[in-house]
Amino acid sequence: MGRLLWDEGKEFGKVMRRLRRVKIIATLGPATVDKAIITGLVRAGADVFRINMSHTDHTALASYVRIIREIESEMSRAIGILADLQGPKLRIGAFDEGSVHLRKGDVFVFDSNPEPGNASRVRLPHPEILAALKVGDSILIDDGRVRLHVVETASDRAHAVVDIAGRLSNRKGVSLPDTEIPISSMTPKDRTDLIAALDEGVDWVAISFVQRPEDVLEVKQITQGRALVMAKIEKPQAIARLEEVIEVSDALMVARGDLGVEVPLERVPGLQKRINRSARRLGKPVVIATQMLESMILSPLPTRAEVSDVATAVFEGADAVMLSAESAAGQYPQDAVATMSRIAEEVETDTIYRSIINAQRGELPNPTSADAIAVAARDVAQTLHSKAICAWTSSGSTALRIARERPQSPILALTPKRDTARRLALVWGVHALETRDAVDIEDMVLRACEYSRSEGFGQDGDRIIIVAGMPFGSPGATNMMRIAHLGGEP
Ligand code: PEP
Repeated sequence: MGRLLWDEGKEFGKVMRRLRRVKIIATLGPATVDKAIITGLVRAGADVFRINMSHTDHTALASYVRIIREIESEMSRAIGILADLQGPKLRIGAFDEGSVHLRKGDVFVFDSNPEPGNASRVRLPHPEILAALKVGDSILIDDGRVRLHVVETASDRAHAVVDIAGRLSNRKGVSLPDTEIPISSMTPKDRTDLIAALDEGVDWVAISFVQRPEDVLEVKQITQGRALVMAKIEKPQAIARLEEVIEVSDALMVARGDLGVEVPLERVPGLQKRINRSARRLGKPVVIATQMLESMILSPLPTRAEVSDVATAVFEGADAVMLSAESAAGQYPQDAVATMSRIAEEVETDTIYRSIINAQRGELPNPTSADAIAVAARDVAQTLHSKAICAWTSSGSTALRIARERPQSPILALTPKRDTARRLALVWGVHALETRDAVDIEDMVLRACEYSRSEGFGQDGDRIIIVAGMPFGSPGATNMMRIAHLGGEP
């Protein structure tokens, strides 16, 4: 018997098995380029690493992937890698004097003239956007610090009145919350980055500034299943078509940074809950991202409000919580991961946690045998106080279905596919192992029991639930559930 990914016979699992259900994603960056530091992040609790393609070239991407795979092998633990594509970040052009100050009530023109800008105009180097702007649309510059609304349009320019005054400087970012932009969420740079990420064998790719389901499908055309696709929800246009976007995506990220620019900040918490619940109903993992422990970029301790924010995401039953600059560029990357992990462990052992999680259970799942078995496994495991639900899973979908039920027992996913084990690193409550497929029922039960013991889920006498599909090795055929005792029948 053996795990295929790592050396057999190593003391594995027990040391590295997480005691929490929610997963932690740590973004890599200048503060975390060394193998020793990245190893420290895994030890502190990171389950998935995010590589932000806005700030990472292909050489650095290859180096991160190589280091993570080495650590994975040394620690005998599947680690997920998420490549986050930059997307079409819109920017204004430059000014002849570097910047201008706009006063409330001023009329300012965005046009296609390549000449440097001045106090009355600047270039917006995206002709399709000038053509799409409508009277009344908001134009937000520099993360919403300066705000205008359009009062007059032509095919190659838009006149706008300043609502919130401030300074505009060269190439500041532009957000258009009211305008459906007729461009793909993939730029030529994103395409090149995506191919490089797929060639490196990343497990997940995240798409920025998704507006419509077609944006996700366009990426899936390229990935062809080589990586799973996560849609970042940061635009009101995606929220307007949320269910459709979720349907075609493999996971969602609540990208609160840009979302908080495109919608009023006070709407973000409600949207976070809505996205989380809609995604859960459709069985897709959700990541809560941005500014979770922001003050830990410079401080070894978070604020009370940040602790509360992480705790809220955990109480909501999010699949993963994410660190951005805290781990990529902060002074305390390892402390930030460890802090997140401690908050999650505390929340998940709080007596009120289970009742909150249970209250989120929605309507009955799809009427498929796989979904029915996932629900049954959860209920039986709870009645019997089972130490684990073991899912034999090829694509990971059986493990995902069980995770959607947010069972009290941890989920041990046993998969013949290395990619599946890595992808499941992002999913709530799942501890994934690569192992050869079961050959018959006896093998299925024996090895599920063996791994439950060796990974530290239970001891002789404990019960586990086993879920699998027959015939073995045929994906999508989940049709059986078995109760087993570790160490044989009592
Ligand atoms: C965000 O906007 O919250 C986000 C995660 O995306 P990025 O870091 O690419 O801005």
